[in-house]
Amino acid sequence: MKRYYEELVNLPGVSSHEKYIRNYMRKHLEPNAEEIVQDNLGSIFGGINLDLEGPTVMLAGHMDEVGAMVEEITSKGTIKMLSIGGISPTVMISQHMDVILDDGSKIPGVVGAKPPHLLRDNKTQQVSSFDDFFLDIGADDYQHAVDLGVKIGQQIVFRNDYTVSADGKKIFSKAWDDRFGCAMSLDILESVKKEELPCRFYAGANVQEEVGLRGAQTSSFKIKPDLFIAVDCSPCQDTFTETKVGGTLGAGFLVRFYDPRAILHQGMKQFIEETAKANNIPFQYYKSMGGTDAAAVQLSREGVLVCTIGMPARYIHSTTSIIHKDDYEAVRNVILAMLKQLDYNKINEIKNNG
Ligand SMILES: [Zn+2]
Repeated sequence: MKRYYEELVNLPGVSSHEKYIRNYMRKHLEPNAEEIVQDNLGSIFGGINLDLEGPTVMLAGHMDEVGAMVEEITSKGTIKMLSIGGISPTVMISQHMDVILDDGSKIPGVVGAKPPHLLRDNKTQQVSSFDDFFLDIGADDYQHAVDLGVKIGQQIVFRNDYTVSADGKKIFSKAWDDRFGCAMSLDILESVKKEELPCRFYAGANVQEEVGLRGAQTSSFKIKPDLFIAVDCSPCQDTFTETKVGGTLGAGFLVRFYDPRAILHQGMKQFIEETAKANNIPFQYYKSMGGTDAAAVQLSREGVLVCTIGMPARYIHSTTSIIHKDDYEAVRNVILAMLKQLDYNKINEIKNNG
């Protein structure tokens, strides 16, 4: 895997705080793009093959990760947190988190947990909701926290500990959802052979997916794709429940045939299946209960052909998630194989098959 993956998960960027991710994306899109496009909310894309008479294809990850913002600094110097993106409160207790100050430096903290000693009276409860959580940054009081540079509205991210599994095949990290997609966009733009590409092509990443698919709405308005591919991590159920459509780590990319916000277009489904089979790329069907940027793009203008090429990931929307390198290969290979075929004829064929 290229260095993009590790470097991107290590950067901080909850929704609306994507600056560091965007700067990274811009730096690495520029060498491979003919044009850089950034919309007014901050989504960023690099385009190639722009002189071609052909359809416009757009590939997008999203830059934001789940985390929190500083909501209040208490008189004791602890920080009340506003959760950003869907996070179960049960994953928060005792976690190491960093407050990102205005200059980009980090202040370490820990989410305070009540020790058993303080719970023995059976009247006291463990802290269990965002309203009760506090981040302890070691400040002595309110003024000390302010002097350290903490301000309301700053982002708070989970401390990362990027780790490769014992067999070398899996990687543990925060923010796979969806720095994986950001890195994949850079990877594809760098890897695709322009002479094999029958379309105009934009690759990049959206802002504010985790708070309601906001960036995709405006970036797709600007780029006007004929076909949109979201590349995003989806939660695997495999360690909890045995299911055929709940995602299994290492079993190939996910064909998201259903989610509540976007049902996969039937012509698109056929195109993805045929492409994967012709190239011996493993895939699995996936039913999701969440949405991706594809749902927002689908409803832009007079409607857009969309799909999500899903990356299986265990334990997303928590402090640490796990991906499998074989799935990375499958996602990368199927996107490259799809792009080579996407001329006007193919896009019309997909539409007519739907
Ligand atoms: Zn995501």
